Amino acid sequence: MNSSTLQTPIEYLKGVGLSRAEVLKKDLGIYCFEDLLKHFPYKYIDRTRFYKIKEINADLPYVQVLARLTSKEILGEKHTKRLVVQAIDDTGTIELVWFQGIKWIEKTLILGKVYILFGKPGMFNGKAQMAHPEAEPFGIETQRKGNLTLQPAYNSTEKLKQFGLDSKGLQKLIAQLIDQHLKDIHENLPLYILNKFKLADRAIAYRNIHFPADAIILNEATHRLKFEEFFLLQLKLLKNKQLQTQKFKGNIFNIVGNYFNEFYHHKLPYTLTNAQKRVLKEIRQDTQRGSQMNRLLQGDVGSGKTVVALMSMLIAIDNGFQTCLMAPTEILANQHYQTIKELVGDDFVEVGLLTGSTPKKNRKVLHENLENGNLKILIGTHALIEDKVQFKNLGFVVIDEQHRFGVEQRARLWAKNNIPPHVLVMTATPIPRTLAMTLYGDLDISIIDELPVGRKPIETLHLYENQRLRMFGFMKQEIAKGRQVYVVYPLIKESETLDLKNLTEGVEVMSIEFPLPQYRISVVHGKLKPVEKQFEMDRFIKGETQIMVATTVIEVGVNIPNASVMVIENAERFGLSQLHQLRGRVGRGAEQSYCILISNHKLSRDGKIRLDTMVKTNNGFEIAEIDLQLRGPGNIEGTQQSGVLDLKVANLVTDQQLLIMVRVCVINIFEKDPQLVSPENQILHQTLKSKNDGVSWDKIS
Ligand code: ADP
Ligand code: MG
Repeated sequence: MNSSTLQTPIEYLKGVGLSRAEVLKKDLGIYCFEDLLKHFPYKYIDRTRFYKIKEINADLPYVQVLARLTSKEILGEKHTKRLVVQAIDDTGTIELVWFQGIKWIEKTLILGKVYILFGKPGMFNGKAQMAHPEAEPFGIETQRKGNLTLQPAYNSTEKLKQFGLDSKGLQKLIAQLIDQHLKDIHENLPLYILNKFKLADRAIAYRNIHFPADAIILNEATHRLKFEEFFLLQLKLLKNKQLQTQKFKGNIFNIVGNYFNEFYHHKLPYTLTNAQKRVLKEIRQDTQRGSQMNRLLQGDVGSGKTVVALMSMLIAIDNGFQTCLMAPTEILANQHYQTIKELVGDDFVEVGLLTGSTPKKNRKVLHENLENGNLKILIGTHALIEDKVQFKNLGFVVIDEQHRFGVEQRARLWAKNNIPPHVLVMTATPIPRTLAMTLYGDLDISIIDELPVGRKPIETLHLYENQRLRMFGFMKQEIAKGRQVYVVYPLIKESETLDLKNLTEGVEVMSIEFPLPQYRISVVHGKLKPVEKQFEMDRFIKGETQIMVATTVIEVGVNIPNASVMVIENAERFGLSQLHQLRGRVGRGAEQSYCILISNHKLSRDGKIRLDTMVKTNNGFEIAEIDLQLRGPGNIEGTQQSGVLDLKVANLVTDQQLLIMVRVCVINIFEKDPQLVSPENQILHQTLKSKNDGVSWDKIS
């Protein structure tokens, strides 16, 4: 795209000026010509067909009819004053009514002439009617003005309307921009790609998405621009991936030594699933290549990601490197620490824990052991990167539940070594395929698509609030069998006090229903200090309490196999992935586990779908797709930092196939011509360089 012209500040467009420019910037984020060009219609009004008057009914959207004016008169007084015009075609009569601008309109309408009447139809006394239609004399002139097409409708704001920039006003500006600057919209895709995928020319596509002559032309234009959006995003992601591989030499882990073998043969308490083995192999291959690994590990809740991470770390240690594992919360970090300590046993490998609550004294020892290389595995929260932690030789980093970490933080970890460590990112629950391709498009992806054998699927039940007694009874049954129960309350940031109130009331009810000394209850919420939280968690872990009442602090990763019931209060207030993540806290032992979703009687449509989905399936990959459909990418964690939200035409839900196709296409381009040196790919250098292409690139890398 010709940056010099299309980057021109919007105030310089004829008819805009300073004050309109101000509002365009503020209300719509339109700063330059190109921004306006990319202010696409949100819908089109079909002006390609004319309705006959007898076809009209009140259920129709905006329609146009071709009719001859037969009478006009001003009726009523003061507030009821109105202009009523009768018009006919060969099928009937329609009544047109105006309440405003009466005098002027009355003057301009010419009786006996045929008009194009456009508006929202209604019925009054069994007669077709239109209030405030657009009325335009029919003639050759109308056709030339391109009015008999799909008419674009643009988002505007109250403020913009005051400046004459309603949908129509914007349309005029855009029409003028396209008239004057069509030649400045340059192609950015190689010709052979255009041919191969039968894509419309770029400038034409821009014109036609705003002013399509018909639905077919609109489709062609939209398709081309969707392709372009996905293409640019993938081009940059894959280019970045390539750069990382070239720029960063990677540590080479060429031996599998004692640490790994000893663990594998003598300590691992179960057989790995095939999926776990496959992923380990993928990581092995990556870390022998001599370039830095950036890999995303996707697996459903309980699929056993932790042990894969640990075994990868052991290989790093075998090769003389230190490793670290970063978790999003202290509880999780603690738990990983416990799990890993337990898995590796005593006198095997030095494992340390560093969180916000690590005492100064311990910190000092940790720092020393990190710097002299004795400490091989450091587990912690983001204290790991904020702290002035220095490793002797950090070679492998695991980031658990990455979406809570900024990408920027990932980069800070790299900076802790001359040669950046290999990075393994683990997601808490699966993310949809299209999101993985865009959000993590610069990472390689490994998938654990298999649960350890012998897991019984969790049974999920949806109960309404007034069925709570039934639930209490069930809880008692399970507790009598020696099981433990979670009861979770939603936590919504905006009203933490309210949530706490919910939880406190819940605890009160519960302590009457489950009285001491027979029953004991742990309570964990965000207002507790980390040590207090840990204390309560520990009581539950040790089995001293049978019920754990908590807010969502326990959401991610907590692993207590004896807990077999997960009760979720106000379940309708949770998102799908959160519900699934919470449910994943049970079903970790050999016992049959249950998830009970308690909700209000009043459910929104989406709320109902969420709960039904939970009852219907345990499959996290399936749930992730439905979640994306319900919420759209904008509300899914992590997307804010990616280029995903800048997609204006393409849609991650409905355009999945296209995205997959485009990604393959870009991968092929890089495979055939890694440096894009061939003449036909020259254009892509320009494309990669262009800044304002809808992808906020600095935020991604
Ligand atoms: P997640 O993928 O959700 O992080 P975890 O790593 O916490 O899952 O593993 C869930 C549970 O499954 C743990 O209790 C772990 O010990 C167990 N586990 C992991 N791999 C296997 C396996 N191959 N066979 C049996 N149990 C396993
Ligand atoms: Mg986990």
